Amino acid sequence: MAIVKIYEELCKSCRLCVEACPRGALAIARHLNVHGFYPVVFDDSKECSGCCNCTVMCPDAAIELRAEAKAERAAV
Ligand code: SF4
Ligand code: SF4
Repeated sequence: MAIVKIYEELCKSCRLCVEACPRGALAIARHLNVHGFYPVVFDDSKECSGCCNCTVMCPDAAIELRAEAKAERAAV
C-alpha cells in the first residue's frame, strides 16, 4: 500500500485529486488551512494503489507519493 503526503498549506481545495482517485482515498477536510481553504486529507484505510493520478492532477504540487509507493511500483 502506498502512502500519500498532503501539504495542506499548499492545497486550494480544487478537488481535482479527489475526483481523480480511483480508490476514494482523498477527501476534503472539515478544517481550514492557513490560507482559508479546506484542504484534502488522505485516508490510508482505502489502500492507495500508488497510481499517481493525484500527484499528476494537482496544480499546486500539494501531494507527494511516499517511498513505499515508489518501491511497490518499481517491483511491478
Ligand atoms: S496515488 Fe492513486 S490511489 Fe493513491 S491517493 Fe493518489 S490517486 Fe488515489
Ligand atoms: S488537486 Fe491539489 S490543490 Fe486541488 S484539492 Fe487536491 S491537493 Fe488540493
